[in-house]
Amino acid sequence: MSISAPQPESGRSTAAGSSVTDEPSVTDELVAANQGYASGFTDPGMDARPVRRVAIVACMDARLDLHAALGLELGDCHTIRNAGGVVTDDVIRSLTISQRALGTRSVVLIHHTGCGLLDLTEDFRHELELEVGQRPSWAVESFRDLDQDVRQSVERVRTSPFLLHRDDVRGFVFDVTTGLLREVAPA
Ligand SMILES: [Zn+2]
Repeated sequence: MSISAPQPESGRSTAAGSSVTDEPSVTDELVAANQGYASGFTDPGMDARPVRRVAIVACMDARLDLHAALGLELGDCHTIRNAGGVVTDDVIRSLTISQRALGTRSVVLIHHTGCGLLDLTEDFRHELELEVGQRPSWAVESFRDLDQDVRQSVERVRTSPFLLHRDDVRGFVFDVTTGLLREVAPA
């Protein structure tokens, strides 16, 4: 069985990456939008250290607008996102740099309802291996219980020897239908 996502009808890409239609690709649209953004942009004069000294680890889900949902402004925070908002070794790498080189102290972890990882299992890796002939080195990190995975993620941060600040770590589930955060009680 194929584990590839179905492709939309329009704007299909060839193997070389060019569009089979003359319509602009989404990337072309983004680049055009950037022209408008830059034309109204003034240098905010910030350095790289987040103003509110917080790093947020969240799922990459398209329905989760972290800045709007949390009242954040440009320059306020680090945002570290991946599939699931899972605290992987690479997230620990980013948090370590965030705290040790760029001065953040607080960590906020955000999972959400309706996450794609709830529908996957570690079989995903096996199916990938059957399809491409190579087993990925990474774990899928799928989960069945959102709260339990948030608690595990909090624990991974709290027990990392690389981090300077492990006292202010809190985990939440964002409801994509109400926009509300719900805090997950520690284990
Ligand atoms: Zn998700």
